[in-house]
Amino acid sequence: MKRSWKRAVLIVAILAFCFLLAFYLRFPDWFHAQPSREPPVSNQTFGDRLLVIAPHPDDETLGGAGAILKQLEHHKQVKVVIMTTGDGYRKAVREQFHIAAPKPSDFRKLGYVRHDESVHGLEALGVAPADMIFLGYPDGGVNGLWQNNWEYSHLHKALNGCTHAPYPFAYEKQAPYCGTNVVKNLTAIIREYQPTDILYPDPNDVHHDHWATQAFTKYTITQMQYHAKEWTYLVHRYDWPVPWAYEPNLGLQPPISLLQVGTRWFDLPLTQEEEGRKRTAIQQYRSQERVMEPFLEAFIRKNDLLGTYPPQQIPGVDTFPDFQKQEHVPRPLIIDPIGDTFTRKLHGAGDIRSLYVFKWQQKLWIVLQMRQEISADLSYFIRFRAFHSNQSTTRDDMKFLSNHLIEYSLADNSRLYARLENASMTIDDNRLMIGLPLTKDWGDVSNLMISADTYQGHTLIDKSAWENGRF
Ligand SMILES: [Zn+2]
Repeated sequence: MKRSWKRAVLIVAILAFCFLLAFYLRFPDWFHAQPSREPPVSNQTFGDRLLVIAPHPDDETLGGAGAILKQLEHHKQVKVVIMTTGDGYRKAVREQFHIAAPKPSDFRKLGYVRHDESVHGLEALGVAPADMIFLGYPDGGVNGLWQNNWEYSHLHKALNGCTHAPYPFAYEKQAPYCGTNVVKNLTAIIREYQPTDILYPDPNDVHHDHWATQAFTKYTITQMQYHAKEWTYLVHRYDWPVPWAYEPNLGLQPPISLLQVGTRWFDLPLTQEEEGRKRTAIQQYRSQERVMEPFLEAFIRKNDLLGTYPPQQIPGVDTFPDFQKQEHVPRPLIIDPIGDTFTRKLHGAGDIRSLYVFKWQQKLWIVLQMRQEISADLSYFIRFRAFHSNQSTTRDDMKFLSNHLIEYSLADNSRLYARLENASMTIDDNRLMIGLPLTKDWGDVSNLMISADTYQGHTLIDKSAWENGRF
């Protein structure tokens, strides 16, 4: 063989190897477990009143079309709540209006376009305009409302230039952009409509508006002590849906990275006619088809995919768990996929594996377990919301940096300081263990929502789902 040939073969072999390596790093789970599933659900599974909650105009169809169609075919009720008008999507503004540097008024213009698209999409599914609710919160800012702009005194300023919902079609005209007001709106809607089933985003969805919509919904339901069947749908995940293309003869499979995190996955099979109607509905979201048509059309499959999260209890234990020997270790409240992004592969110390929450000897123990040894270069956050029996809720965030608890954020820090008095913190290899004394103010706590995230500087390395445990 000539030398140039040998070199060509070698180059092809190296390229093929690099491609396979890159694929493995991007989608490691493809090489491991295979999906397993619960029996399919049908319209019989849902009660009389379905409430679908969507972060942006189009999510209600991508994740909820099947459930909506089946409800309406069987003359049951459907109501759809859309949190934002999708007015913060810079690329869509540029493509829609051919503007290089959009102004706040251009973002608002997109809000009107996307509102109309949702109306047409939902009409194609048979939903009456009276059953469509647009809250008008800021696109790209739902996590901001959840995390930072909670109070009326601290409103969020959106890309649309506003601190209040500027749209005449908003559920609450001039709704202030803050978390408290989101909960107020969701509470009023649920109280009035009394849904039997609530379908909302999956807690492991990686888009910040999506996971924050899940957090707001779960928070509201928990605070109201409201009972409905809860279902989740997934839209954004690195390895999902596969492939990103219109493949109407394929099924929608759960991402392999989310098979072992505690979600129960259900197929909602669609007839050919229902699939066709879902496609017609998706085609109404023209501004979105323009920027990501293959992605949207990848949701037209032989089934919709729904998830459920079985309720969990925060256990009391008699013996402190021995994590090294794996003795007396309770079930983690949160299991997080590991190594599912390049950043997490690189930063094992920031790659969350699981979070344990349990009571032992008059303390509430929170154990954050990482894939590798805890690093002083990273910061670790543990955030919790405690629900009291009088329907009040407290919000606490704890931050650990350089192996010390150095900072607490959120309002009402005096309470958190009190909570942290006599708290213990230890680092044991890849685990951060915090023991909070179960003082009087924990006495009437009925539920706890909790989440963890890790940063290097300002760069997010990993973020767990928000999970809920009965206290
Ligand atoms: Zn979305």
